[in-house]
Amino acid sequence: MKCVICKTGEVKPSSVEAEIKVGCDRLVVPVEAEVCQQCGEAYYSAEVLRRLEWVREEFARKAIVPPAVGKVYQVP
Ligand SMILES: [Zn+2]
Repeated sequence: MKCVICKTGEVKPSSVEAEIKVGCDRLVVPVEAEVCQQCGEAYYSAEVLRRLEWVREEFARKAIVPPAVGKVYQVP
């Protein structure tokens, strides 16, 4: 499959870290995706998108509390 963003890159299955934003928080979720070898655009399956949506909702209502791995610093 060719990438629809850059139109030249080849898309291959790969393990990536999807990033979800919830307010000021960011969640990093390791998932399988199809990734463009040229521009790095990631294509997620419907199944993965459902899982990411589930994670977002569960985190937003504090049903899951994953361990923090870093902090976000805002420089004024
Ligand atoms: Zn691409």
